[in-house]
Amino acid sequence: MKFHANALIAKFCIRSCFLPAQCLLSLLYRHHTVYSSLVSLGKTHLLIREAGFAIFLQSNTQVLIQACRPVLGVDPILFLPTSRMERGRLIRWRMGWLPGKPKECPCGSDHTSHCHLLDCPLVPVALFEQLPQPDQDQIHRIDFAITSLPLSFQEPRSAYWILLLTILWHIDIICNSDGDYSHETEHAAKWRAGSAIEASMI
Ligand SMILES: [Zn+2]
Repeated sequence: MKFHANALIAKFCIRSCFLPAQCLLSLLYRHHTVYSSLVSLGKTHLLIREAGFAIFLQSNTQVLIQACRPVLGVDPILFLPTSRMERGRLIRWRMGWLPGKPKECPCGSDHTSHCHLLDCPLVPVALFEQLPQPDQDQIHRIDFAITSLPLSFQEPRSAYWILLLTILWHIDIICNSDGDYSHETEHAAKWRAGSAIEASMI
């Protein structure tokens, strides 16, 4: 709770810098003491939140928590160009809802666990081979690929983004075979369209 309270204080202090000039808080801003108090309050609580997040990561051994980025920020899976279905898969993977509760895999050799899906014959091996490789075995390759995505639009696009979305499409079909996938004829269509526009501008 304290963690969220610090986050809210930092957010409101930062937002107060961008209010319209006619707002009462903007008018109060002209007084140096109010301005400096809000700025220092925002910075202090942001630092407290970052420190709290680092301690939380170090003290928590859950696989999904360990797979998170070690820095605070907006996860690129929320803003990189993709369809609603593809973004949903990325978020479900991050939340642990995909693959979800392990059940018998359609390949007939194991259950739909995180570990088995790396070796499942229903997911083309070549797709995994082109993802970035983690140094530590305990980090799942899909988690590592998501965590390795650039944090900003200014950084170069990751070539494996299309492969990542294709892998998750295969996994969704394996784990949720009742779904309708007939309308998904091309993976990462929005990404490809954006790349084509960029190439035409060069
Ligand atoms: Zn399988």
